[in-house]
Amino acid sequence: MKLGEALARWPVVRQLREGDPLGLGRAAQSERSRALEPRSDEADHVVQSICPYCAVGCGQLVHVKDGEVTHIEGDPASPISRGRLCPKGQASKSYVQSPLREYKVKYRRPYGTRWEELPLDDAMGMIVQRILDTRTASWDDELNRTMAIGNLGGATLDNEENYLIKKLCVGLGIVQVENQARI
Ligand code: SF4
Repeated sequence: MKLGEALARWPVVRQLREGDPLGLGRAAQSERSRALEPRSDEADHVVQSICPYCAVGCGQLVHVKDGEVTHIEGDPASPISRGRLCPKGQASKSYVQSPLREYKVKYRRPYGTRWEELPLDDAMGMIVQRILDTRTASWDDELNRTMAIGNLGGATLDNEENYLIKKLCVGLGIVQVENQARI
């Protein structure tokens, strides 16, 4: 390498030449980092949303390209989280796009040693039958309720889903209704 080239690459020279004497900006960047562009620049549009994972309800900006979620980041306009997301919220893109996501019902029958795939209609029919049988067998005529069935919701249920689940449970006389992440 020639002396002139070596001098030009010397950090002090770059800092002075690029108007960054403390080396906190451009002078501290490599050619590669200068060429990088944020993933979020590719988005067709950005949608404001709320993280579904817990009761804090942090604000999210969901970047969408060709109808697919490409990136999720904190929403600085949220008065709750002011642009921050915890690791769960940052990873919530996987909620819709993880390659590990299951799209088929998995069933392990009593004493079974492996998971079987069931058609959704069959699985729903089995659940309905078990609820009806249990409800009939345990119905309390005096208090109009069953104590043999409970419902535990998860953090990824949204407000509307929880509202419908609560309505369904009350209609069936199920009074033990809880959620892992209620506000
Ligand atoms: S899971 Fe994390 S990012 Fe999501 S609402 Fe809760 S604290 Fe916020």
